[in-house]
Amino acid sequence: MTTIVDIDLLADVQKFGAADVNACFTCGTCTAVCPLSDNDSTFPRRMIRYAQVGLTDELISSKELWTCYHCGLCSDSCPTEADPGEFMAAARRYAIASYDPTGLARILYTRPIVGTAVAAGIAAFFALFMYAAHGPQDGSTLALFEFIPDALIHWTGIGVMVALVVSGVIGVVRMTRRVARRDGVTLRSVVGGRAALARTLRAAWSSLGIESLGQRRFREDCKDDAPAEPIYRRRWLIHALTIWGFLGLFAATLMDWGLALLGIKETGTAIPIWYPSRLLGTIAGISLVYGVTMFIVNRVRKINRAAEHSTASDWLLLTLLWITGMTGFVIEVALYLPGAPAWGYWIFLFHVAVAMELMLLLPFTKFAHAMYRPVALFFLALAKDRVPQDA
Ligand code: SF4
Ligand code: SF4
Repeated sequence: MTTIVDIDLLADVQKFGAADVNACFTCGTCTAVCPLSDNDSTFPRRMIRYAQVGLTDELISSKELWTCYHCGLCSDSCPTEADPGEFMAAARRYAIASYDPTGLARILYTRPIVGTAVAAGIAAFFALFMYAAHGPQDGSTLALFEFIPDALIHWTGIGVMVALVVSGVIGVVRMTRRVARRDGVTLRSVVGGRAALARTLRAAWSSLGIESLGQRRFREDCKDDAPAEPIYRRRWLIHALTIWGFLGLFAATLMDWGLALLGIKETGTAIPIWYPSRLLGTIAGISLVYGVTMFIVNRVRKINRAAEHSTASDWLLLTLLWITGMTGFVIEVALYLPGAPAWGYWIFLFHVAVAMELMLLLPFTKFAHAMYRPVALFFLALAKDRVPQDA
């Protein structure tokens, strides 16, 4: 097999982050102190070596990139201040851009002005598109789905979801093929026979249930939170609330559509706070806004290693999430106010445009780690499960 060496790899990765790993002399301290590095998954020194010697394929095929939670212990221990934790973050951004065939992720990460212009253009497009079909503004009650027709939002949402799923699946397939080839995992070893299938199911549960939703390694192995840190400021909790909040809002939206399809309730009909889809949406919205606000505050204050360096793409994602969550609550307030405040209609238009943009851009931003990390953790769990059986 031919090994392709890219002499510009390190310089290219460094466009995605602030690490100066030229100073690294491969002492291995970072790997020794990393609480998540073990025999099945060694990093970050090995990842740095790949970049230094130009092994692009090895780097972006490494599940290890995604098993790091950027606690910063390695950076604190590095004798040359090469910042290996930030290198891992930059390499993940580089990997996201490598799995994306459109080139949009690279633009958002490495060309902040162009990326911001693209993001503003997409939001303006959705807003104008919706506004072009707008209906009357009822002055007695806030009839939001008469102002922006329900069917238009529904079908635009379907189109955005299709684009999201297609770009997400392309990225995940590209990543999976690379990691599987590197780890020697074949289709037969995953689904060929009952033992293989059982191992696959165990790995899937470990990756999706225990790690992605339960955040086990993030909670237990990453020691970045000082023991005195109050629970509401813990990184893993902020991260978990953001994920659960986002998934909850997504589920509430699907539930609302489902109820409309079943003819139980039309979208946009006024419903009490205890109604399942609204209750779920409200709790999930609070969770999301809290998590994202804490992420923003931590990044502004550069409170830990993970918050020290932010790219324009990181800010874009946090801004879109925060605007989507907050405007949702502002609309809730407007619905309770007497009469029908005209600004409620405009906030609604803004909310819908930003939410559409958010969904469209997810696979090209940091949010993409929600797709790639479970895949990497799946391969890690497979590797761990294989060891005692092969021994
Ligand atoms: S601790 Fe620093 S110098 Fe040592 S291998 Fe890691 S990055 Fe390189
Ligand atoms: S940032 Fe933390 S988890 Fe990531 S490589 Fe460094 S020590 Fe390990």
